[in-house]
Amino acid sequence: MQLRVTSLPGDGIGPEVTSQAICVLEEVAGGFGHDLELDEKEIGGAALTKFGNPLPDATMQACLGSQAVLLGAVGSPAFDHNPRELRPEAGLLRLRQGLGAFANLRPAVFYPCLAACSPLREEIVKGTDILIVRELLGGLYFGQPRSIEGAPGARQALNTMRYSEPEIERIARVAFQLARTRRRRLLSIDKSNVLECSRLWREVVTGVARDFSDVQLSHMYVDSAAMSLVQKPAEFDVILTENMFGDILSDQAGGVVGSLGLLASASIGGPVGLYEPVHGSAPDIAGKGIANPLGAILSVALMLRHTFHLSKEAECVEAGVTSTLKGGFRTRDLARLGERTVSTEEMGAQIAEFVRLAAGANNRAAS
Ligand code: NAD
Repeated sequence: MQLRVTSLPGDGIGPEVTSQAICVLEEVAGGFGHDLELDEKEIGGAALTKFGNPLPDATMQACLGSQAVLLGAVGSPAFDHNPRELRPEAGLLRLRQGLGAFANLRPAVFYPCLAACSPLREEIVKGTDILIVRELLGGLYFGQPRSIEGAPGARQALNTMRYSEPEIERIARVAFQLARTRRRRLLSIDKSNVLECSRLWREVVTGVARDFSDVQLSHMYVDSAAMSLVQKPAEFDVILTENMFGDILSDQAGGVVGSLGLLASASIGGPVGLYEPVHGSAPDIAGKGIANPLGAILSVALMLRHTFHLSKEAECVEAGVTSTLKGGFRTRDLARLGERTVSTEEMGAQIAEFVRLAAGANNRAAS
């Protein structure tokens, strides 16, 4: 099978974790007999530095011409004072919009061998396996009008939260479908006691539920959900929520399972899937070779599953991550005091090696 992928390493730790994810993808392609066509382009601060634009046309065209995009992270303190349109993050928001990727899937899974990494007691976090389905193209992050206006000292800022029925319905359908592949439970999170957007959200989601009578739908307010997520994370299954609530709750879920560096994401729904770790560019650790590449590597697994429908290959990458963690390999964010740590590259190499051996065994069994 031909795999046409555009890679956008971006800023900070983005290039460090993306290069490891690509090594793993290359092993998958070589080992399972796929033809990988990779094109690397700039986004975010890297693109601003080179082209003065956080999402150059050449980057957008390359992404639209491929089947899937693998992104590292964007964001750099060097651009913190730029106007909004000339900040690295503006490039990412435009990319998501350009790809039409409205459904952001963010799994958060607890690995028993990482029990010590969670700030929660093991009996609370044990069994946690959550899939957050976050609406990605609406709400406060995209709503117009938006502005900061007025004279210094008396300025006013405005953002708009806006959702339409079709926007809510299409993400709800994705979430219900995914719930069918798991425990058939869907929790929709909103703030319908205060926000009109959330009232419409709850009404539309409840309406869609009529087409999915085999899935048990429940609703929760976001503040209560944030509390439950740390009190009883193992009780959550599929979470459906709007853009900003999903952004916040998924970082929280990362903390619950041990590290934000573990979390992968898939943004689907448009013609080209976008795959990226949940974390940002982490300028505090960039360039040190200590970033955890697992979120990026697990994003490759999501790409194999959701864009290429190669479930055996996706499972192989996931098994590589589990085996590497069970083998005691820890980047600094996962290590306990005094525990030996490995670099970003060593962690990636372990998983690439696992994939190489597993693909070889698979090929021998097939021949
Ligand atoms: P962040 O996710 O970059 O970092 C938060 C904390 O987690 C930091 O202490 C960091 O060192 C740690 N961390 C993150 N990823 C890690 C990894 N793979 N391994 C080990 N530790 C890791 O969030 P932030 O500090 O709030 O933001 C930094 C920059 O990233 C900002 O410019 C922000 O706008 C941007 N950002 C980008 C994205 C994205 O590209 N999708 C997402 C979030 C934030």
